[in-house]
Amino acid sequence: MHCYNCADRGDTVPAVAVCASCGAAVCRSCARIGSQTTRHYRLFVGGNLLTETRTIACPPCADALATHHPGRFRFATVVEQPAEQMLETQ
Ligand SMILES: [Zn+2]
Ligand SMILES: [Zn+2]
Repeated sequence: MHCYNCADRGDTVPAVAVCASCGAAVCRSCARIGSQTTRHYRLFVGGNLLTETRTIACPPCADALATHHPGRFRFATVVEQPAEQMLETQ
C-alpha cells in the first residue's frame, strides 16, 4: 500500500501506518504520531482509569482531532523539512 497523502501530490511512497480516523495509509514522513486519553470504567472497584495510548493519524485528521478534541488527542508538532528538501519542492 502507498501513502494516500503523497499520492495526492503524484508521489508513490510506501505506507507504514494507517490513519486511526479516516483509514488512509500514510508514509513515515506524513504519519503524525500522537497520543489519546482513553477512559476505562473499572467494573469491580468502581471509578475510572485513564490511560494514554498511541494514535497515528494523517495530517488533516491529526489537525482536526487536536483542534476539536484538545483534551483527548495530542500530536507532536510537525518536524520541519530539511532545507534541501524544501528547495527541491519549489
Ligand atoms: Zn506520505
Ligand atoms: Zn486521516
